[in-house]
Amino acid sequence: MRDSYDVLILGAGAAGIGAGRRLAEAGADFLILEARDRIGGRAHTIEREAPLDLGCEWLHSADRNPMVTIAATNGFDVDQRPAPWREQSGGHGASPREQVEFWQAFQRFEKRIEEEAEKNPPVAAGAYLEPDCRWNPLLNAIFSYISGASLNCIDARDYARYEDTGQNWRVRQGYGALFAALGAELPVELGAEVRAIDHGGARVRVETSRGAVEARAVIVSLPTSRLAQLTFTPALPHKQEAAAALPLGTAEKVHFALAQAEEFPSDGHLFPRMDSPDMGSYHLRPLGRPLIEVYFGGSLARGLAEAGADAMVDYAKQELVSLLGSSFPSRLTTLATTSWATDPFSLGSYSYAKPGRADERAVLAAPHDNRMFFAGEACSRSRYSTAHGAFETGHDAAEQALAALQLSPSPRA
Ligand SMILES: Cc1cc2nc3c(=O)[nH]c(=O)nc-3n(C[C@H](O)[C@H](O)[C@H](O)COP(=O)(O)OP(=O)(O)OC[C@H]3O[C@@H](n4cnc5c(N)ncnc54)[C@H](O)[C@@H]3O)c2cc1C
Repeated sequence: MRDSYDVLILGAGAAGIGAGRRLAEAGADFLILEARDRIGGRAHTIEREAPLDLGCEWLHSADRNPMVTIAATNGFDVDQRPAPWREQSGGHGASPREQVEFWQAFQRFEKRIEEEAEKNPPVAAGAYLEPDCRWNPLLNAIFSYISGASLNCIDARDYARYEDTGQNWRVRQGYGALFAALGAELPVELGAEVRAIDHGGARVRVETSRGAVEARAVIVSLPTSRLAQLTFTPALPHKQEAAAALPLGTAEKVHFALAQAEEFPSDGHLFPRMDSPDMGSYHLRPLGRPLIEVYFGGSLARGLAEAGADAMVDYAKQELVSLLGSSFPSRLTTLATTSWATDPFSLGSYSYAKPGRADERAVLAAPHDNRMFFAGEACSRSRYSTAHGAFETGHDAAEQALAALQLSPSPRA
């Protein structure tokens, strides 16, 4: 690491990689500072019998998602099989009629938010639930996966602004593997934890665990959980308040190998109950592979992450026993568990806006002093909490930095 660059990018997640690729394309002099010993951040694929995505996995709104083309251009296979989340394979625990009734209630709820949230005073999304509706617990469970928090914690307008075309595709080699490939050629200093930013002088000075480094401009693409803790000199209270208003909710996964998997349909799915806000979502044989992927969200996920991997695995097995019988766990081998909530470099999974704070995304994203630029999923108005949204904000922040430093006479749209 030299002691000076034109641009520093803080964080090598999807946003930092998006920014880095644009700066590299423009021939800029830059370095990415990354605290972990790997790039990708919350995009991370490991190989255990198959590629397992520990973080992002789905190309949400795939028919409008730029990562679809980027994946194909870079030699990755995009699988268009639909997501199984609406299935209850084998009818376990819910009649077909109950399933239809639930999804009708879900659609009514979404329609109310979409039509009314921007017109009404800001409130928590939970205010749009039908009072005493029997499906409210299951709606809360599903939102704990979508938002990482319960409906009473998240802002209704923010939810209404989220873009969801209903198309969700996957990268066969892993979504995290795609980001690792996209960042492989970029200049990154690994193990460099950013602790403070001094922007009082002619150049911006960044203090890291590997020493100080200066630049004409910086692109900050850290998770809001970390941004809220960073020391800025002079202070930037509006940025740190915006970060605190956009905390990271929690989502965690368990990946199991499954013996005699053929008993189940490819891309099947199970909810353990239809009446609880606290349960996992069980994806059977993802992409036809002999695996089960468990997804926990919200306070349940956070509690399990804090309790440790064994507690998370036990919880998942107990839920499967309730559906599939007491001998079922003997068919499972644990391949991986996550703990994004306790990982010091994420401290959570993806951002939501606290009630009344949806507009903080724009505050967070705004440049400061035309030399500090902000990126990351939480900066996106309608694609927050996603990897493609993060990548785009990084690209946009790089355009802003290039224009500010007059390194790119004709920035791309
Ligand atoms: C379990 C889970 C499932 C998900 N599923 C999906 C999905 O299916 N589809 C989807 O689109 N999205 C999904 N997401 C969300 C998606 O992964 C994120 O929105 C996206 O990857 C965030 O990218 P980012 O660059 O904004 O942040 P990050 O990926 O968090 O990148 C920030 C980088 O900064 C580094 N860093 C942190 N602190 C410091 C510091 N002090 N100094 C230096 N570096 C630091 C981090 O190590 C990290 O590399 C999921 C996330 C999780 C956790």
